[in-house]
Amino acid sequence: MKPTIVLVGRPNVGKSTLFNRLTRTRDALVADLPGLTRDRHYGIGRVGERDYLVVDTAGFDPVAKVGIMHEMAQQAERAIEEADVLLFLVDGRTGLTPHDEQIAARLRRSGRPLYLVVNKAEGLRREVVAAEFHALGLGAPLAVSATHGDGVTQLVEEALASF
Ligand code: GDP
Ligand code: MG
Repeated sequence: MKPTIVLVGRPNVGKSTLFNRLTRTRDALVADLPGLTRDRHYGIGRVGERDYLVVDTAGFDPVAKVGIMHEMAQQAERAIEEADVLLFLVDGRTGLTPHDEQIAARLRRSGRPLYLVVNKAEGLRREVVAAEFHALGLGAPLAVSATHGDGVTQLVEEALASF
């Protein structure tokens, strides 16, 4: 069985961009408009000799009760249940938001192995990024740039180390 890595986080943090980099496909919809990926998307990633499954989710709102936001939240909930490892993406440029904190609370309850990933970190100082997102209480954040590729291989190697 391939280990399954699930990408979660609010809209526009770069989940689909990271999915595309990991799977090297144009499979996920990348857009400047937040929330365009309304389904789960599956792809195969490879690091060294190992294949793994990657799941891209729509950015979700754990408290949405109706409508498209609710459907997106349910898709994300299902993806979380399928995860061997969760990568929780946040945006290093916008900084920590209340929506990030809501999602963090939901993810903590999942009991799944979880890595906090600060995306869009190209050109940002690591100490600043680390200090800001440490407040989530999810351990040391891993800084990456999905568009430039910085830190991405290390991230996957770390996430898959125990599988
Ligand atoms: P999603 O809604 O979480 O799937 O986010 P997308 O992957 O659609 O990306 C949202 C926006 O962030 C797009 O304009 C991306 O080009 C941009 N983006 C994604 N990754 C990075 C990154 O590493 N650095 C910067 N500067 N922008 C990024
Ligand atoms: Mg997306």
